[in-house]
Amino acid sequence: MGKLLGWVLVGLLVWVVWRFMVISKRRAERAKAGGSAGGEASPSSQGARRDTPVTDRTPVMMMQCVVCGVHLPSTEAIFSGGNVFCSEAHRNQGPPAHAGAAARRDES
Ligand SMILES: [Zn+2]
Repeated sequence: MGKLLGWVLVGLLVWVVWRFMVISKRRAERAKAGGSAGGEASPSSQGARRDTPVTDRTPVMMMQCVVCGVHLPSTEAIFSGGNVFCSEAHRNQGPPAHAGAAARRDES
């Protein structure tokens, strides 16, 4: 049993290292290509605005708001009643009628 856990940990470690290598390589290539290619990849300066700094090192799952359908990282998503929302406003609004079936099933 302990052996299995060890292998899981080794696998996780390998994955993290591999992920880190891929991202740092991609970042180096992007920097080499010239920083003027689109403003979306400007480093650190924009990240300071967030409460929780999300760097490229953190693998982030993308979620979809059930109200407006916008995609956002799970770190910024709001989870409520088994649904995903992009903002407090949409959470208060609640899921649209056609998407509410899943939530309704939970309640009963
Ligand atoms: Zn939304």
